[in-house]
Amino acid sequence: MANDGIISGVTVVHDVIIIGAGPAGLAVAARLCEHTPSAIFTDEEHRRYHWIRKNGTKTTILNQRKNTIKPAESSCGNISTLVLDATAATWMAKWNMLLEKFEIEYLRSPMFFHPDPGDRDGLLAFTYEQDREQDLQEISNCVGKEVSKHHKKRKASKGNIHRKEGFWRGPASRLEIDERDRKDYYSPSTALFSAYCDCVVQRYKLNKNLVRQEGVQDIDFGIVKQISDVDDVFTVTTNKGVHHARAVVLAVGAGNAPSIPDAGLTPPMVGQCHAMQIKEFPDPSVHVKMRAKKETNVLVVGGGLTSAQVADLAVSKGVTRVWHVMRSELKVKPFDVDLAWVGKFRNIEQSAFWSSDCFEARLQQIQAARGGGSMTPTYHTILKKHMGAGRLILHTKTNLKERTYDSATQTWQVSTFPNRNLPPIDYIYFATGIATDYSTLPYLQTLRAKHPISDAGGLPSLNEDLMWKDGVPLFVTGRLAGLQLEPSAGNLAGARVGAERVAWSVQDFVGQNTGAKRKDSGQDDPLYTWSAGIGNRYEGLQEDSTA
Ligand SMILES: Cc1cc2nc3c(=O)[nH]c(=O)nc-3n(C[C@H](O)[C@H](O)[C@H](O)COP(=O)(O)OP(=O)(O)OC[C@H]3O[C@@H](n4cnc5c(N)ncnc54)[C@H](O)[C@@H]3O)c2cc1C
Repeated sequence: MANDGIISGVTVVHDVIIIGAGPAGLAVAARLCEHTPSAIFTDEEHRRYHWIRKNGTKTTILNQRKNTIKPAESSCGNISTLVLDATAATWMAKWNMLLEKFEIEYLRSPMFFHPDPGDRDGLLAFTYEQDREQDLQEISNCVGKEVSKHHKKRKASKGNIHRKEGFWRGPASRLEIDERDRKDYYSPSTALFSAYCDCVVQRYKLNKNLVRQEGVQDIDFGIVKQISDVDDVFTVTTNKGVHHARAVVLAVGAGNAPSIPDAGLTPPMVGQCHAMQIKEFPDPSVHVKMRAKKETNVLVVGGGLTSAQVADLAVSKGVTRVWHVMRSELKVKPFDVDLAWVGKFRNIEQSAFWSSDCFEARLQQIQAARGGGSMTPTYHTILKKHMGAGRLILHTKTNLKERTYDSATQTWQVSTFPNRNLPPIDYIYFATGIATDYSTLPYLQTLRAKHPISDAGGLPSLNEDLMWKDGVPLFVTGRLAGLQLEPSAGNLAGARVGAERVAWSVQDFVGQNTGAKRKDSGQDDPLYTWSAGIGNRYEGLQEDSTA
């Protein structure tokens, strides 16, 4: 096992290690390089940016014999960074692989959700610049449908709502998104989005040996003698080596591995798989039957967009009949969260979410906003077409009861409640999502034992900086940060908001722990610390008055 932490007496301590090179990890890395992020900031915040930029740090490579400091080889802005990803040594490898596997042509999310911190409308501008308007698909049932909870409440309490230009046309008419926003309510094609992510990687020079293919197995935080006797650092152990960093960003998506829900027995892992673990589609066992011109029956379990995509893929690949069962009603929504969380009233929902200081209450808000799995109107239309052609049979409000595998016929006998008389099934695809439970993640066990924190619904109760807890600078973004971010933490919207907050915290932390401690940083000057946003001006006045 290579140990990159100590090389012939030289210990490498990165400022930051980002674990996960998906959209959330990319958004953080890009944001760490961006000096003028597109969000609107107060003057105070701008001063902080200025200070951080001036005092950014470099990788600390401490030569134990000479005690000298070497500059970083790879960095995000002034912050030396290493990115580790279990899937591949490139950005977005898992994302690209999944979208390719499901042959997804268009994203579900609108144009303003992407990992580029520089410009909210960057993806739209890129589309025009590249002359790729044909790569956009309008998101139906969206413009003209958005109603914020705030407006709903007012409407309910007053029986009516005052008219506002561009919103209400009359007491009985519905609220409309301003037509000027229509341009946002398109989805980019998978290829366009991928090209834009590549462009972000190039622009911020994030492709220079930054990402390494390594699966993280353990994260520890404490004193490492050969580095410091007083300052705690992270020790990140992977399947290939050991790395050290002052701060770590966890951007591992759902975190947990996908698992097949059991229907009361321990089934063999043949003839079935979780949708996220599909290797070949359709499975070779089904393919053999198809080639022999035999009838094939495939069962898809789940009510979310992935279930619709798998069902559609099975039909289009030539499976004779697809049986699609879901526990709930069929839900059709443009996005996986309510429109109120995507559109222009998003900030109202966010402020309600953030102002609740009870994590259990936030969990309920997350569940309410997501409301279980749903599919887009586009995929609903596709499924209806397959149903009309007799290729797809959809059973809603149906639970799997038992399933037994007959190895002689290589088919499943599946019983459901209520009974749907399913025929022998050649293959079952579970598009049942991934349940996140941070307490079961193997690589967090050491940290949990040393620095325990509470949780709600399997999500860790991070502090407001998205930090594990005060004093333990493990920053978390993506789905695992749901309790502090918002219901869409696990998708591109969350990646963007998470990056903003994590980058703030990381820059602050790294600045305070290295740059600010430098002799020439001027940290002893009260005016200076006030300018940097880490002190206040009255401290300076106080000193003056005592002088
Ligand atoms: C088919 C499909 C289509 C989707 N379409 C959309 C869409 O259109 N819009 C949208 O907003 N969302 C969409 N989503 C949701 C999507 O999953 C998220 O938007 C996005 O992937 C979240 O990014 P992330 O970086 O948080 O997680 P991920 O993309 O899952 O990235 C996590 C990364 O962490 C790495 N990792 C995990 N554990 C370790 C470890 N122990 N050590 C090292 N590396 C590790 C993984 O290899 C992976 O690369 C889609 C999801 C699927 C499955």
